[in-house]
Amino acid sequence: MAIQGIVFDVDGTLVLEERVLDGAPETLELLRRLGYQLLFCTQQNQHSDRKISDRLKSVGLDIPEREIVSAGTVSVSAIAERHPGSQVYAVGSTSLRDRLEKAGMKVLTDQQGERAEVVLVATDYNVNQMRLSAAAEAVRRGAIFYVTNLDRGEPMKDRIIPGPGSLAVAIAYTVRRRPIVLGKPSPTMVAAVRDHLGLASSSIAVIGDQPAQDVRLGRMLGAATALLLSGVTTIDELDRTPSSYLPDAVLTSISEVPLWLEQVNA
Ligand SMILES: [Mg+2]
Repeated sequence: MAIQGIVFDVDGTLVLEERVLDGAPETLELLRRLGYQLLFCTQQNQHSDRKISDRLKSVGLDIPEREIVSAGTVSVSAIAERHPGSQVYAVGSTSLRDRLEKAGMKVLTDQQGERAEVVLVATDYNVNQMRLSAAAEAVRRGAIFYVTNLDRGEPMKDRIIPGPGSLAVAIAYTVRRRPIVLGKPSPTMVAAVRDHLGLASSSIAVIGDQPAQDVRLGRMLGAATALLLSGVTTIDELDRTPSSYLPDAVLTSISEVPLWLEQVNA
């Protein structure tokens, strides 16, 4: 079946450190003109989809909120649906906590965190020992343990800080419990992508810069996959990538995507 829908990663695929990658706006415009349905699947969780859309607009990418599926939004919806009205403790941004509350959850403070029924670990620029230990204690007492995404680090302008994956690992190691992932790659994110696109897997392509996240999502979805070398992955690293994370195609630039799709659809 011909590809009709394209799922793009955002960081490392369209933008790199607040800068739009060469060819990204033109390629997206061309793909829209060719009739492809686009969806933008990001691990971002510290802001709402509206804010993500605004930030992309401010750097020159016109992506409407309805085309964004973020780990943050998917996590909030999944928790609200599976544990309606539960007491939740989030290691994450103020916006994430607000959104959990708006979704009907009882969001606990750092002092109350250990009593949580559900723990969600996400990007947190203000994480400290108190937050990590409240989360660990809640999980030790039996709370359901979720993480938005397993990114190891969050690249800042002049440094890298531990990402949700690293924070979750600290808690997991402390109490010997593994978190359930809600962002890329997970059955939850696969369902969210399917819902948004409403297409058969065989007519979807997933394009991103990380084998363990983007290609894996594509594989779980049963979609065609392309890895872009514009972000964090180098060609040498592909030699060490497990075969289940290997993409159908490796492209140096996003500008090569239309030609690749033409070949897939031929
Ligand atoms: Mg990426």
